[in-house]
Order: sequence, then structure tokens, then C-alpha cells
Amino acid sequence: MRASKGAKGHKSLEQKKDSRLQPDANDTIHISGAEGIFNEEELSRILSRYLKRAMKHSRGNPDRITLTIERVADVLHTVPILTITTLECDSPERAKLLITEKLSELGISKTAIKTAFDTACSTSTMRGAALVKMISGNRSEPDKLRGVRASRLGIEKEFNRKLSKRLSRIGLNTDRVKEALILASKVAHHKDIVAELCISDDPVYTIGYIASSTHGYQRIPNIKNSGDMSGGRVFFIKEDADVLSLIKYLEKTPVLIVDNKQ
Ligand code: AMP
Repeated sequence: MRASKGAKGHKSLEQKKDSRLQPDANDTIHISGAEGIFNEEELSRILSRYLKRAMKHSRGNPDRITLTIERVADVLHTVPILTITTLECDSPERAKLLITEKLSELGISKTAIKTAFDTACSTSTMRGAALVKMISGNRSEPDKLRGVRASRLGIEKEFNRKLSKRLSRIGLNTDRVKEALILASKVAHHKDIVAELCISDDPVYTIGYIASSTHGYQRIPNIKNSGDMSGGRVFFIKEDADVLSLIKYLEKTPVLIVDNKQ
């Protein structure tokens, strides 16, 4: 699902007035997006859930909602879910220090971290993520305004129920946490990915995360101030990454997340 507003010819008064919303090159503003892998019989329930999300988003009312449904191959790759932890953090300033410390431990350079913050704290929100090389900090995605969108990702049905129970026990059983955890698990599993940084572009959601196959999915409260419309995602990649093959994996390869405690 993709919801946007301000498409050419549809520029709303609201957008003109709101300087916190920066349009992209196509003159559209990203409102909301979602993806998943589902069985046919789940489709109508999921589509109505996505539609509701698109139409009631704190980033505003969309002019356009696009729902795309594709059949995926029967044989799916599976990857284990990342472990989930929550770090202690009481302010955006502290979050920056914490993130810098954790990403440096993974060998990511200060230059790359700076590029990532510039991207993830931007008001001109992208639909996808930036690919930032871990040493040079060079941005490697072909379309810098759109980014690369991780797609074709889902969770094994039986494990989904188990995960809901596990997350309920720690008070985190929400669509938002689950979807981000599934996305981060698919992304972190690729050999050319070193880490991910995510700051939501939702002004009411101030918990971000960093994720890596080494340290799992680490939630960071107060990563930004409430009311802040900026946000973004960065995938840190190895300096010698095969970028085209990585993009193919992120965007096209169907992956199901499975339990890490088999
Ligand atoms: P969200 O956590 O949904 O608020 O998204 C935060 C940012 O992550 C968005 O502004 C996008 O730039 C990026 N993003 C959202 N969904 C995806 C995705 N499936 N793949 C890559 N980047 C994404």
C-alpha cells in the first residue's frame, strides 16, 4: 500500500501551509506505506486494514492510495527473526550518542553515521531507505529521492501467533513493532548489510531503532521529539557490496520470517 498527497495537480491548501512537509521530485508527499505476504483468504481483511491506516494517518489525508497485489512464488526463502531489546534513552541528543556508539562498534565510520543522520532526520521523507556505504558514507541507491523499498516480506503463520504472545508479554504486540521487526529481520539477513537505522516519519511515534544481525533489533525511545514530521531509514552496506544484487534481494525476493528458537 502506498498513500501520498500533493501529487501534481492535486496540491492541497494544507500542504502549501505546512512547511514541515517537503514534497519529493514528483511533487508528492509520502504519507504511509505497508507491505506483507499473505494467503488469498486473508486479503480482504488485510486490504481493509491497510486502507484504514492510509486514510487515518497522523501525517495527513492522502490524495492517492495505491494498493498493489502480486502473486509470489510458492517456495519462499526463510530467515530467523531478530531478537528484540529496548535501550534506555531519554532524549534525541542521548539517542544520537547511543546510536553513534553502537554503530561505531560495528565498524561504521563517523562519516557514514553523519550521512545517515542527515538522511534519517530529513523533512523531505523518502518512500524507501538510503543505502549508505559503511566507510566512505557514499549513498549508493540509484534513486536518491525514492530510496530502496524492502518489500515481499512476511511471517510464517504459526510463528506469527507465537510472536504475538511473546510480544504481548513485554507490552509490544502492535502492528508497528511487528512489521518493523519483520522488515529489519529480512534486511539484516543479507550478507552485504551491516546495520539499519530507522526514525519513523510519524509525528506521534518517537521510538526508533537500530538493527543488525550481530545485536538484533534495538529499540530507542525518544529518538526524536513528538510533533516532528521528519524521519527516514538507512541501510548501512559493506563498502564492496554488490548493490544491484542487494536491491534485487530487498525489493524482489519473497522472504518469510521464522522463529529463531527452533
Ligand atoms: P515508518 O517507520 O513507517 O514511519 O518509516 C520511516 C521511513 O522508513 C519512511 O520515511 C521511509 O523513508 C522508510 N521506509 C518505510 N517503509 C520502508 C520499506 N518497506 N523499505 C525501506 N524503507 C522504508
